[in-house]
Amino acid sequence: MGSKAEGEPLPRPLIDPPRVGQRDPRPGASGLPLAEVRSWLDERGQPDYRARQLADHVWSGSGATGSDLRTLPVALREEIETAFRLDTLVSTDVSQADAGLTDKALHQLDDGRVIESVLMRYPARGPRRPRATVCISSQAGCAVGCPFCATGELGFWRDLETAEIVDQVRFWRRRLALEGRRLTNVVFMGMGEPLLNTRRVLEAAAALSDPERFALGARRITISTSGVLPGIEQMIELRPQYTLAVSLHAARPELRDVLVPLNRRYPVTTIVEAAARYATATGRRPTYEYVMIDAINDTRQDAVELSRLLRGQLAHVNLIPMNPVAHTPWRASSMERIEAFAATLRRAGLRTTVRRNRGLEIGAACGQLAAERAGAPPPAAVARRRELLVTQSATALAGRLPAGG
Ligand code: SAH
Ligand code: SF4
Repeated sequence: MGSKAEGEPLPRPLIDPPRVGQRDPRPGASGLPLAEVRSWLDERGQPDYRARQLADHVWSGSGATGSDLRTLPVALREEIETAFRLDTLVSTDVSQADAGLTDKALHQLDDGRVIESVLMRYPARGPRRPRATVCISSQAGCAVGCPFCATGELGFWRDLETAEIVDQVRFWRRRLALEGRRLTNVVFMGMGEPLLNTRRVLEAAAALSDPERFALGARRITISTSGVLPGIEQMIELRPQYTLAVSLHAARPELRDVLVPLNRRYPVTTIVEAAARYATATGRRPTYEYVMIDAINDTRQDAVELSRLLRGQLAHVNLIPMNPVAHTPWRASSMERIEAFAATLRRAGLRTTVRRNRGLEIGAACGQLAAERAGAPPPAAVARRRELLVTQSATALAGRLPAGG
């Protein structure tokens, strides 16, 4: 895809925004608490065991359409379909990478919005069992606007509903079942900031870890945040067994202000202190994500400051070479620099791993999820779009965060 000539009366957006239609008023079945389903059936004079039958369809891997509800009477099936959406994902396109180990799905929602999720298969290694990790989206777009992230570049569209979050995982479980594989882990590292859609994200995580619903162990769920203090506080109160991943990317406040604009609202030391409280409350070791950007946040001084920030904490640091994102001049640090950075952290006693990139060629790696990239627009359009994004992000955040601070 070539760039358009300068002076053309575009400005074509970086991403083709999907046409936005009406919302489907029917709630997604997978977002409903079991008690609600039970009383809905009860009101219709259905026997108790119907609730379990319906739940089995929704949660056991089938049950994406009305005709999948084979154990239920036809009249009830029709009533269910009139009242609820058995699947909130209207259509899905899948592409593959990494010799079939990574798949990316582009899901279209009822109103035309498009979100993405990724499946990463990890074959068995020595005593380690095979894993299948699904990376899911929590919002369409993101208001935080980190400049190295493709989702941040999109701006913010809307929060996902609980069922829209859960249905991404149901989608992959159905696909994996066809391959005779099990889904083992879920990470909230796709599009969006999970803790700016906290209620629905926590509802979705509860549904996924509920033994009566999706039945995935809570310890197999990771919630990643760029540092939304009220959301972390809420998690501390609930004390779930989820892993909390904090996207750090810089220890120095001035640099983090730029890389993660939310730092101006919730400073890094406050966030690390909150993550430590989460660790105390749950006994779970927080993960700190650090995207390695060449000559931006990968100096020895940065490593020393990061060690200082996390010294004595229960912590696991994950260094992630930056994935290429269009329209930024930034690139990944060299492996040499990443290893040197890791060595400094390890010398300071911090558990550190370097994460391998997956799905790069299909834009399925972390921070590359951007739903339909639209080639390279002319620089003037990029500049205009950037300006717009900054304003949009600021407005979206102002309306979504408590005043002051
Ligand atoms: N909004 C949440 C979760 C989604 S982003 C958060 O920021 O934590 C998931 C992870 O992908 C984050 O750690 C994020 O920093 C990382 N990421 C974003 N853009 C990236 C890029 N270009 N290369 C590598 N990782 C990136
Ligand atoms: Fe949003 Fe996370 Fe991307 Fe930052 S890194 S823009 S918080 S999705």
